[in-house]
Amino acid sequence: MPAAFDSTESAEQEIITITQQLIRLDTTNFGDDTGPGEAGAAEYVTSLLAEVGIDSRTYEGRKGRHNVVARIPGSDPAAGALAIHGHLDVVPAVGDWIHPPFSGEIAGEMLWGRGAVDMKSGCATTLAVIREWQRLGIAPNRDLVLMFTADEEAGSRYGAQWLVENAKEEFHNVTEAVGEVGGFSYSLRDDLQLYFIEAAQKGIAWLEIHGSGVAGHGSMVATDNAVVRIAEAVARIGNHNWPIRLTDTVKLLLQEMSEITGVPLDEQHPEEVIATLGSLAKIIGATVRHTANPTMLSAGYKTNVIPADAHAVIDGRFLPGLQDDFMNEIRMLVGDGLEIRPQIIERSVETTFDGNLVDAIKQSILAEDPAARILPYTLSGGTDAKALDKLGIRCFGFAPLKLPANLDFASLFHGVNERVPLTSLQFGARVFSKFLSKA
Ligand SMILES: [Zn+2]
Repeated sequence: MPAAFDSTESAEQEIITITQQLIRLDTTNFGDDTGPGEAGAAEYVTSLLAEVGIDSRTYEGRKGRHNVVARIPGSDPAAGALAIHGHLDVVPAVGDWIHPPFSGEIAGEMLWGRGAVDMKSGCATTLAVIREWQRLGIAPNRDLVLMFTADEEAGSRYGAQWLVENAKEEFHNVTEAVGEVGGFSYSLRDDLQLYFIEAAQKGIAWLEIHGSGVAGHGSMVATDNAVVRIAEAVARIGNHNWPIRLTDTVKLLLQEMSEITGVPLDEQHPEEVIATLGSLAKIIGATVRHTANPTMLSAGYKTNVIPADAHAVIDGRFLPGLQDDFMNEIRMLVGDGLEIRPQIIERSVETTFDGNLVDAIKQSILAEDPAARILPYTLSGGTDAKALDKLGIRCFGFAPLKLPANLDFASLFHGVNERVPLTSLQFGARVFSKFLSKA
């Protein structure tokens, strides 16, 4: 184990300036390649690494979409490598902001701007801690693969997905990975902070439903109207009561919450236990069942013409390990005679909440916050972990931040006035440094 890792003072200072600089480099991802791209941020990251003697490689998943990867050799070459991933892009900043979204202003002990939590602060945590270790001459226990990716906010096609397909050699011997979304605190009581570590993700199934029927005049008796067939299928899907199914990670979380709060867990009706999670209930509540929401409908072009076809789009999210179960149910709801065409299918992810890496996560948080209780959870969305999972890498969401009780963290993600307390960043740097020393 490396010595002298307690001296994180300069990482604590640097994490603020690096987050600030990254926010000022606009990397908005509009999802259609019209944004500024990640070149500026990638260049900045490359220079921060080079300054402390770390060589990195830059990959353009598409022109202007830059990814940076670096490997730091560990003291135990036999140990599997740990990937630390963060994305450089951000979602568009719309709405009225108190401080301009790309200003990186510090006001009221907070750092403001798009990316303050999702996730330029996470990238800055890695950079600040690694730079300090390099300056102090500390080698990690195992090889570290640092990834700063493009395009996460639009499905990672030019980022992590591209890297695992086109730069596979970078992932040689990588067995585990940490990235967003996890390690943040939720204040349950003054003397009890919950820290959520992501150990699973739901899968994504964006589906088009196509129906065709017999075209005809709107004044006549219709025998096979595509609009009616699509409307019926959409209504069946939208009204479907998906059964509650507690997957391993969710069950573990709810059992622990039940124990902490004294609210009994009814596995068929876990709503009461979920409600104890306050502002996080909207995230956790989406992980006890599949969901399928109709989001788009189109048919027809003239009032008195029965169209030959009609279409709908469904945003489906399936539970880890239950993709087939979800698709079978959807097929049943859609019924015969309509066609299901997948727009996007992205895998679910789940790993067990145990092992040395989980121990390192727990110990590093407890060392900085003895009032912590560390719990696994399932993310209802997706991250770059979906790409790494394809290589058999165990993925966790762990980008530590201790948050004040009155901050609704979940609403800051992609929200207006994204911001992060400076003390949260500093806490994150201390915890991450301790984590790496044990990982
Ligand atoms: Zn993110």
